[in-house]
Amino acid sequence: MAEGDATEEGVTADITRASARLAQAGRLTVLTGAGVSAASGVPTFRGAGGLWRHFRAEDLATPGAFARDPALVWEWYDWRRSLIAACQPNRAHEVLAAWSTAHRGFALLTQNVDGLHERAGTAQMTRLHGSIWTLRCWNECGAAPWANRDVPLRPLPPRCPSCGAMARPGVVWFGEPLDPLDLARADQASTCDVFMVVGTSAVVHPAAGLIDLARVRGAFVIEINPESTPVSDMVDLSLRGPAEVVLDALASC
Ligand code: NAD
Ligand code: ZN
Repeated sequence: MAEGDATEEGVTADITRASARLAQAGRLTVLTGAGVSAASGVPTFRGAGGLWRHFRAEDLATPGAFARDPALVWEWYDWRRSLIAACQPNRAHEVLAAWSTAHRGFALLTQNVDGLHERAGTAQMTRLHGSIWTLRCWNECGAAPWANRDVPLRPLPPRCPSCGAMARPGVVWFGEPLDPLDLARADQASTCDVFMVVGTSAVVHPAAGLIDLARVRGAFVIEINPESTPVSDMVDLSLRGPAEVVLDALASC
């Protein structure tokens, strides 16, 4: 968080304000994005050091890309899986996990696919974009998605255990719809007293649309992000700083 007396006072006042809102909130919903896992060493897509500076999303994270070159897409996911496997949840994951068990009206909606919220012990969570640790049949033979934590994955591409066709990563790619059940849970959770948006560039829809939905329904919206985003001007309180620092400060109030 920003240093310097005047700024520090302002930040302290904002933390106190946020903390007061949290203390009064019957229902608290937190929407997280890749920034929450940045301190764990998981690269974000956008922002400083983001993956999209080196790769193009449309080359790797779309059904079209997979149909064109499954080996390339799988190599990228295999690399990300091995990178994430070596990472640990950070203080931001820990604080949210603690809130999830301590706060009866808590809900976590995450866009992350890395599994770090789960590893931190978070209850009441919805994975809007699936999991990098789940595989699905590309042939849609009817087999249920299955867990796979092998690093590295072999053979690559992996196969569906039911029909032998190629498997695909169990994540939601650009251009794909979200699971209707997850969407319904997200819609429900968007009716709340405080809606906290943490570490997301707020440009990927429909997840980003939940922020406005919550605001329109009367939630007090708090954003935690070291950089400004397209929603920074419309939130009630913008806490500029890394999630692991700001959430730790809020947890210590
Ligand atoms: P994004 O990469 O678009 O944006 C990351 C945001 O995090 C930026 O706004 C950046 O300023 C912020 N940030 C960076 N460091 C931070 C920190 N220490 N604390 C708080 N914020 C920080 O991420 P997104 O909005 O989640 O993008 C959506 C898509 O990216 C999703 O579909 C998601 O599945 C995918 N994604 C997931 C992971 C993951 O699972 N960890 C990683 C990369 C991308
Ligand atoms: Zn199959």
